[in-house]
Amino acid sequence: MKDHTKDKVKYDYDLIVIGGGPAGMTAAIYAQRANLKTAIIEKYIVGGKMIKTSEIENYPGYDYILGPDLSEKMQQQVEKLKVEFIYDEVNTIVDNENHTSKTVVMIGGNKITAKAVIIATGSLERKIGCPGEEEYANRGVSYCAVCDGALFKGKIITVVGGGYAACEEALYLTRFTKQVNLIHRREQFRTDEKTVNKVKNHPNITLITDYVVTEVIGDDLKKKVIKLKIQNVKTKAINEVATDALFPYIGSDPVTSFVKELGICDSNGCIITNDKCQTKIPGLYAAGDVIAKNLRQIVTAVNDGAIAAQYLINFIDNFNE
Ligand code: NAP
Repeated sequence: MKDHTKDKVKYDYDLIVIGGGPAGMTAAIYAQRANLKTAIIEKYIVGGKMIKTSEIENYPGYDYILGPDLSEKMQQQVEKLKVEFIYDEVNTIVDNENHTSKTVVMIGGNKITAKAVIIATGSLERKIGCPGEEEYANRGVSYCAVCDGALFKGKIITVVGGGYAACEEALYLTRFTKQVNLIHRREQFRTDEKTVNKVKNHPNITLITDYVVTEVIGDDLKKKVIKLKIQNVKTKAINEVATDALFPYIGSDPVTSFVKELGICDSNGCIITNDKCQTKIPGLYAAGDVIAKNLRQIVTAVNDGAIAAQYLINFIDNFNE
């Protein structure tokens, strides 16, 4: 590896990874093992969506593992390698002259300079956007079944969505109650047949298809959710569903507002990368759910993290030789 000690630019790190989910942690493992001084910047809690995922049955090596447990195992591996964790929020990334360094600027103004940056900020859960959803957040409306499911033991729980997350979390929530509703806006699901059949055949899940939630209604006195107003998308008929909890699982949007100015995103806000997980800016890479791609899984996030790290190791070796 080239000796950079004579470089003019003062680098705080060789690599900054923004986001501590599976993509970011994998990238950090690969980079640190290649002797790059690496730091992960994380806004909240390390683990990304893994910490909000109940059961994982499609990550090789584990036929069954809880999301938070897999996250913890990855974090322990990262910590063992002495990757630094910086808990802060990134405001912007500045690409310096000739792409020889990147300055990561925090919301509070702190600046960190590195030879390369990987963006692995993942995505944020989408909101339904109906009246009452925000008002009753944490009073029955939750976006994390793993975190809050146990609060509704024996109660009526409603999940919204028709993808993997909605189906898997609806199944997970049946451990707390015999009354789980799954509301989906059409009859086809965005999952494999095995998963959707498990949902359809589960004695404690009631499927409500062709409906959307139009309002979350609560008991003003007790400040908790009591029912949902729902509307049939075909007939426009309006109905009500009694529920104590609402878990919307209707997809998510990439966390990329802080790189808007760099012009590296597509019209959905996902970062465009090549097969090396490189953006159009040399030295700036992206990995995981934040990039434009079709399959978003823990295993594909891990894959992206490894690819990004491996190519940026080559980039750092070569960029000012
Ligand atoms: P998703 O696959 O994008 O599914 C979102 C679902 O929400 C869709 O069924 C969609 O309906 C519905 N929806 C969207 N907006 C809505 C709205 N305003 N009102 C009502 N319904 C709405 O999202 P996801 O399930 O969160 O999964 C995200 C990604 O992670 C996917 O790539 C998924 O494959 C992956 N994932 C994989 C696993 C696994 O493999 N075990 C687990 C979790 C997530 P339509 O179908 O009508 O569009």
